[in-house]
Amino acid sequence: MIRIENLSKAYHKNQVLKDVNIKLDSNKIIAILGPNGSGKTTLIKSILGLVIAQEGDVKFNDQSIVGEWEYRKQISYLPQIARFPENLKVLELIALVKDIRQQEARDNELIQYFGLENELKKPLRNLSGGTRQKVNMVLAFMFDSPVIILDEPTVGLDPVAISRFKELLEREKAKGKLIIFTTHIMSLVQEISDEIIFLLEGDIYFQGSVQDLINQNGSTKLESAITNLIENSHA
Ligand code: ADP
Repeated sequence: MIRIENLSKAYHKNQVLKDVNIKLDSNKIIAILGPNGSGKTTLIKSILGLVIAQEGDVKFNDQSIVGEWEYRKQISYLPQIARFPENLKVLELIALVKDIRQQEARDNELIQYFGLENELKKPLRNLSGGTRQKVNMVLAFMFDSPVIILDEPTVGLDPVAISRFKELLEREKAKGKLIIFTTHIMSLVQEISDEIIFLLEGDIYFQGSVQDLINQNGSTKLESAITNLIENSHA
């Protein structure tokens, strides 16, 4: 579905992605992991065409995305920090995104699913952090896109919303979609992801299943396997 080929990105002298090669296939939940500043968001933004790399290519269904934009209609994206005008009401924001996207949306179903019925008439500035994230969830899941990219989706969510989110991911995966997400919550990764991509200082240090990573590092838990991976990389 998505191939990243020899991708390198630097901001001035800061080499953020170093010759990255990865394949992201449909029907999978893939976690992109790595410490702060390791290049996860830059990698995601390269797929979206929001970051232009100096070298390499991103292919979406075997087509290079360079100079293209139509392919983005097939991607839903939840950014790490979603910034919208604070005076917009929740309903107005949802209507605005639907108007831009011009695709069939199941916003009503998701508003109920996340219990947002009483928040719809409030301006964004009055919402709590968790409620904002639930609104972002509605925006990310309301179109039937084959690719869903979520940058730290669970930040601020309460336990009920997290469990709803996990259920939703499983349902979307069952439809054959590719779901890519970043998180720092290892229990979530262990529970829901089929594959891990571990980035460290712009290099891919690992790509494979949770079990492969645990086995490879001789630990019993993902958290300690990742700590071992980081420590070994500095050895
Ligand atoms: P992560 O998502 O893993 O925390 P990022 O991809 O956000 O990492 O950042 C990787 C590195 O790139 C950091 O050193 C960050 O400061 C730098 N960086 C990210 N975006 C920009 C930008 N627009 N301009 C300059 N440097 C940036």
